[in-house]
Amino acid sequence: MTHHFEHDVIIIGAGAAGLAAAQKLKAAGLEPRVIEARDRLGGRIWTDHTITPVELGAEFIHGEHAATWQLIKPPELETDLWPRGRQYQQYTYLYIRNGQLLADEALDEQMAAVYEHVTHFTGPECSARDAVLTMTQPDDTVLPYILSRLACVEAADVDRLSATALSQERALNTAGWENYHIRAGYDALTALMAQGLDIRCNSPVTRIDWSDTGAQLLLADDQTLTARRVIVTVPLGVLQADCPNFAPALPSTKQQAIAALAMGHVTKLVLQFSRTVWPSFSYLCSDGVIPDWWQAGTAAAPVLMGYSGGPAALELVALGEETAIEQGLAELSQAFGDDIRSAFVSGRLVDWSTDPWSLGAYTYTPIGAGDARAVLAAPVASTLFFAGEATSTNGHVATVHGAIETGWRAADEVLAVL
Ligand SMILES: Cc1cc2nc3c(=O)[nH]c(=O)nc-3n(C[C@H](O)[C@H](O)[C@H](O)COP(=O)(O)OP(=O)(O)OC[C@H]3O[C@@H](n4cnc5c(N)ncnc54)[C@H](O)[C@@H]3O)c2cc1C
Repeated sequence: MTHHFEHDVIIIGAGAAGLAAAQKLKAAGLEPRVIEARDRLGGRIWTDHTITPVELGAEFIHGEHAATWQLIKPPELETDLWPRGRQYQQYTYLYIRNGQLLADEALDEQMAAVYEHVTHFTGPECSARDAVLTMTQPDDTVLPYILSRLACVEAADVDRLSATALSQERALNTAGWENYHIRAGYDALTALMAQGLDIRCNSPVTRIDWSDTGAQLLLADDQTLTARRVIVTVPLGVLQADCPNFAPALPSTKQQAIAALAMGHVTKLVLQFSRTVWPSFSYLCSDGVIPDWWQAGTAAAPVLMGYSGGPAALELVALGEETAIEQGLAELSQAFGDDIRSAFVSGRLVDWSTDPWSLGAYTYTPIGAGDARAVLAAPVASTLFFAGEATSTNGHVATVHGAIETGWRAADEVLAVL
């Protein structure tokens, strides 16, 4: 391999992790090059501005202490506590059961109790479903709702999701539990983070030839680039699909870590309305095809955001956009009445699972994965560095702030060896 390298550092991926790493390296006086497969920045941050900002990927800043706040600078980035008008820590729930709308305080309390139990689970390692079943009977009303809720929040197959790992990750979380919307759209954060950086889009990296001294990257258009150090931020799903391909192969411990973690699935169903024709709620939990709904958009352009996670997300995708929209409207109009149909403007199904540059939504820790995240995060030969939400080891997995922190961490690792 050549000993002359075109770049000190190349960062693969212009999502939150890659941009955070690039910013930090630039602040230290380097000129990192960011190489991005897509024609846009942000990765799993993706905002649709057609009518009003609508988040197709990441939606909330999760937590009043999230690292993201270090980058949020009003007035460009105004934020709102979500849902608007809510008091701190006060969420309201509605349920759809067999097509009927209900508010049920006893169910709220049961949901909270079982959720608390699973997310603070201390027993021997078991699946999230088994942890739920230590508290519920198969005929309990709460069971389908709580399993769907876990599948949605964690994007996980509840039979694989480790309750032990989940509770350990949540115990480590220092970001807090409040949720916020960025008023101008999450991509306003991306734009701010990308300022002044050298970013090349439309350039998938297909292969990395690496050694102790540096690396040569092969792009999809057969061009090559060389760098002394490379920060890899591609999502776990893409790494699992062997893109980029590493030559020589990554150490076996690294390969095992990639295989041991799971890329979870989420499908969003975005329904846009001309007016609000439903009662206010924080979450609408349904036993129908779309298990979770919340309110987004603005008063003038309201949106109902449908969310399906885990294996059910793939079933929703399989319906196809038209049928999924029709199914969503049918379930909502049964609960809220036919005004739903007259106020409906447009719908969009957002499928992250077949997106070639994410191949899933975000990661979860399955049973038996152990310390796979730390192994995935570790550098290889002072040449390859790893960032991205999957490499988060401080309980902030599967989030934007977690991804940002891993980008900063990888930048520090690079600076330490330069
Ligand atoms: C539906 C959904 C809802 C979510 N909701 C929230 C939320 O409300 N709050 C929150 O904090 N988080 C949320 N998340 C998670 C959050 O979006 C991610 O954790 C975070 O954005 C990941 O950032 P990243 O930089 O690790 O990865 P990415 O954003 O995926 O960035 C990786 C980049 O690498 C690029 N890439 C991939 N392969 C290649 C290649 N071979 N060559 C070159 N480039 C490549 C990709 O195109 C991408 O731009 C959500 C995610 C989804 C999908």
